[in-house]
Amino acid sequence: MGIRENLQEVREKVAGAARRAGRDPGDIELVAVSKSVSIEKITEAYALGAKNFGENKAQEFLRKHSHLPADARWHFIGHLQTNKVRKIIEKVHLIHSLDRVALAEEISRAAEENNLRAPVLIQVNIGGQGDRYGILPDQVSSFAAGAARLPGLEIKGLMAMAPWCEDPEAARPYFRKMASLFKQVKENVPGVSMEYFSMGMTGDYQVAVEEGANIIRVGTAIFGPR
Ligand SMILES: *Cc1c(COP(=O)(O)O)cnc(C)c1O
Repeated sequence: MGIRENLQEVREKVAGAARRAGRDPGDIELVAVSKSVSIEKITEAYALGAKNFGENKAQEFLRKHSHLPADARWHFIGHLQTNKVRKIIEKVHLIHSLDRVALAEEISRAAEENNLRAPVLIQVNIGGQGDRYGILPDQVSSFAAGAARLPGLEIKGLMAMAPWCEDPEAARPYFRKMASLFKQVKENVPGVSMEYFSMGMTGDYQVAVEEGANIIRVGTAIFGPR
């Protein structure tokens, strides 16, 4: 199947999952994860209506960014080195992967130098896995409170990946735990604006939509295997 059919299938499945959960499919933003995908394929997806793209490496993102029209929106979804922040800060629409204090401080500094407030999501290590980036669930509120005090940051929500599993249903308890964390931060942490709830990938995006995600990040199901 080509990108056209893939995109259509993903959109239909998102709409189905939204309806099952009594949600408006229009409230869910699809980020086409284009890491390691060629500029030709990204351009094709863009022409088919995909406007949000996800990249996880700064160099690759910068190279691709200049090839697409200015209304393409780029989401940074990977581990971000502090020395790359200044290079991407003005070109990225949303950083999904705020995962440590030093990065929060660097993004804030760089944003202030550019007279902007950078919208970011806090990445949560929802499975508590030792080999994964992200803030541990029981530290998210205090981390969010600290980050919200930085002048150049705008805390816009949370991002997570469920531990990998063949069965999409295995992700559901993690997504539920994320939903409860999201609510907790929104209600208890001053200075945050919790708008975006980014979770769900090729293997589990329908479950993520059923559990409240409003940004899903889908690569393989759109572009094929990497
Ligand atoms: C690669 C990646 C995705 C997309 O994964 P697929 O399984 O190809 O849909 C989503 N989120 C993050 C953070 C990723 O690194």
